[in-house]
Amino acid sequence: MAAAATQGREIVLLMGPPGAGKGTQASRLAAERGLTKLSTGDMLRDHVARGTELGQRAQAFMDAGDLVPDDVIIGMVSATFEEAPAMRFLLDGFPRTPGQAAALDALLAEHGARITAAIVLDVDDEELVRRLLGRAEEEGRSDDSEDVIRNRMDVYRRQTQPLLDYYDGQRSLRRVDGSGDMETITARMRDVLEAMEDGSSHGRDGASPPGSPMGNP
Ligand code: AMP
Repeated sequence: MAAAATQGREIVLLMGPPGAGKGTQASRLAAERGLTKLSTGDMLRDHVARGTELGQRAQAFMDAGDLVPDDVIIGMVSATFEEAPAMRFLLDGFPRTPGQAAALDALLAEHGARITAAIVLDVDDEELVRRLLGRAEEEGRSDDSEDVIRNRMDVYRRQTQPLLDYYDGQRSLRRVDGSGDMETITARMRDVLEAMEDGSSHGRDGASPPGSPMGNP
């Protein structure tokens, strides 16, 4: 297990609704597997804090809980891949639209990599709102007011959730119960990735031909 975690390409997607705990789990799992965590939300917040042109363009979308346009996001991810050609990434909060999923497939193909697993953290709605409101108090994020939270959940359902079918069709989707304590959730994700490693050594590799993400990119 330790050897596998330090060599070879590995692209893990971490998906799930806002408040599912993606950020925390992404950091833990990335550290444990020697992956670079690529969080588009963190990158955008950094741009906003630094007042860059990209940050200025993104801020209104973020404050409203809407998605930042695909071209902005895809440009950021593409630049990060160029900087780290080892292609060992944990993607937190990307892709979120069919257009982003299509762009990711193209970028990975360019770099000779493919998706190892798309992990979805499942948490029920009431628990999500409770967690997000708690976080609003602790962190003071400007997009954690109740209205904005509801919009972000709606946006997730309409624009991102359909991608789960796409990854399911590629046989890379794995659902993980996102309730319980932090360690337990990390352990569930670890088990999923180890099971995929075992599976790929028995001929699952390449089992699913790349299709096109649903909808019009
Ligand atoms: P997050 O921290 O991942 O919840 O992201 C915070 C906000 O950043 C989101 O509500 C969006 O406005 C924006 N954002 C982050 N990642 C993406 C993405 N992949 N596509 C579009 N917008 C994004």
